[in-house]
Amino acid sequence: MSAQGEQVSAPRTTAMSPVIRHLPYFVAAAIAVAVVATIQLDGYILNIMMQATTFAIAVFGLTVVLGLCGQINLAQAVFFGFGAYAVGLGTTDLGLNFWLCLMGGSIIALLAGALLGMTTLKLGGHYLAMVTISFQQIVTLFMINAIGITHGPDGVSRIGRPGLFQSSQSFLALCVAALALIGYIVWHLPDTRLGRAMRAVRDNELAAGVAGIDVYRTKVAAFALSALLGGIGGGLFAGGFSYVSPDQFSFAESIVFLTMALLGGAASPIGAAIGTGLLIIIPEWLRFLKSVPGLYLAIYGLFVILIMRFMPDGIWGFVQFTLDRWRAKVRSEPTTQVLQLAPASSGGDVVLEVSGLSKHFGGLKAVDNVDISVRRGSVHALIGPNGSGKTTTLNMLSGLYKTTAGRIVLDGVDITDMPAHMRTSSGLGRTFQNIRLFRSMTALENVIIGAERPGNDLIGAGTHVLLTERAMKALTFVGLGTRANELVSSFSYGHQRLIEIARALAGNPTLLLLDEPAAGLNSSEKVELHGLLKRIAAQGLTILIIDHDMTLVREAAQHITVLNFGRRIADGESLSVLQQPDVISAYLGTE
Ligand code: ADP
Ligand code: MG
Repeated sequence: MSAQGEQVSAPRTTAMSPVIRHLPYFVAAAIAVAVVATIQLDGYILNIMMQATTFAIAVFGLTVVLGLCGQINLAQAVFFGFGAYAVGLGTTDLGLNFWLCLMGGSIIALLAGALLGMTTLKLGGHYLAMVTISFQQIVTLFMINAIGITHGPDGVSRIGRPGLFQSSQSFLALCVAALALIGYIVWHLPDTRLGRAMRAVRDNELAAGVAGIDVYRTKVAAFALSALLGGIGGGLFAGGFSYVSPDQFSFAESIVFLTMALLGGAASPIGAAIGTGLLIIIPEWLRFLKSVPGLYLAIYGLFVILIMRFMPDGIWGFVQFTLDRWRAKVRSEPTTQVLQLAPASSGGDVVLEVSGLSKHFGGLKAVDNVDISVRRGSVHALIGPNGSGKTTTLNMLSGLYKTTAGRIVLDGVDITDMPAHMRTSSGLGRTFQNIRLFRSMTALENVIIGAERPGNDLIGAGTHVLLTERAMKALTFVGLGTRANELVSSFSYGHQRLIEIARALAGNPTLLLLDEPAAGLNSSEKVELHGLLKRIAAQGLTILIIDHDMTLVREAAQHITVLNFGRRIADGESLSVLQQPDVISAYLGTE
């Protein structure tokens, strides 16, 4: 693409004030609400719209948990049911105010979601699916059989509505307003700290933890938020139809919610709205087929399968992908300010003290009783043949592996048993041998996540502007300031490594761990990397680097530790270590 064809713009922070930028949305939403409230709607249309709006709110929940955070929830109908039954039973049997019931139901859904998430999200994957299904079945059985409380299969009828919204049409207007407001929030969630954390967890859980995100808490938050939206949707549903019964909240309905999200595109509330609309309207279109038994379901199923087959990211995902291809690349303006690494300089002469570190995989001693002592402000290389335990050592340092034995002290703090994200707050930054970036995000967003690490004093509470500024500085520092707004997938392998380094630097680490940063780079990229390492070291940041590139090691590192078969075979000043016979034989084989 020619340079003229590209727009130049600062990253999204300097855009106009959010109030003005978002005004058109709220005007459009207000018009929609006004239209729904005033135009005389046919009862049939009204019912379809009522169902679509309340369902869409619940499907927004799946946008959060599935689309943003990548966690499966096969019980959304239960949370929808909690809201619905709270309003149903509350306004009838208990004679409570509608708003109170709606709020209560939403909170019950939120708490149930949080509780379910807390007990199961450590399991992940298939277990999560299983547990949500079981939960769904238990609640369904309860709704049917606890007749004394839920009225059983008969359901609850004559459900009340709030005073101002007695007519179906005014109540629908209320639902549309709620839909617009919640849609707005879900739309902007990805650009908030929590939303970025969710996307990071979805894209790469390990890297998210190492970048300082509490993975478990993020997942629980997504799950709880999803349940909350289910509850709100359900509460409004009950008010809209004045009648609820257990079959409306069965497992099949959870699948319908899920299909709606996947069909429209789980990653965006627009997709959720499209999917919900379609799955409610298609059966109406196909109604004429109902005279032939089976045909209706077959065509309906075929329709859904075809869309999913040809648009794996859903309808809206497909539209966005097409739009993105036509959109000009937006260049960003590199910042003129230099990134200040400012590693913590208090504490002793030794930044990292590792003693007796061991990791055994069954009988294999991948790392065996290794001591490493990294001096403040030095570049320390960890070398050894393939399979000698270098990456395993780094994984223990950064908290991805539990140690079998040994102790790790960073800047005087024992971090041996800390979870990964806490070590990051304690001052550890790292890159991975096989690059782990958040693939659905731009370079800048990746680096912002690094900058967000809790306890990053440089930016204090970290407003978004400051975070973006620091991330831009980090990207400029590694030489990619003009490409901040591009998706990471459009970068070469070597540049992806640089983004990874920028992400680690943005967190202002005390110690930077680099796992084979030169692997897979071409010669010009290697030169770039050498220069970058020098600039990092010049600012006094301590680096522990694994690499096979002996030129780089010899030039950059003052101190070398050599591993072979998991054991430390040499340790000391660079030149002397590289001349030791057993190091040479471990590397080159004995002649
Ligand atoms: P290096 O980075 O020095 O090339 P690694 O630390 O990746 O070596 O691996 C050291 C040894 O530990 C290898 O034999 C490897 O197969 C083994 N290993 C590493 N990770 C695991 C794991 N998760 N499970 C079992 N074995 C592992
Ligand atoms: Mg390795």
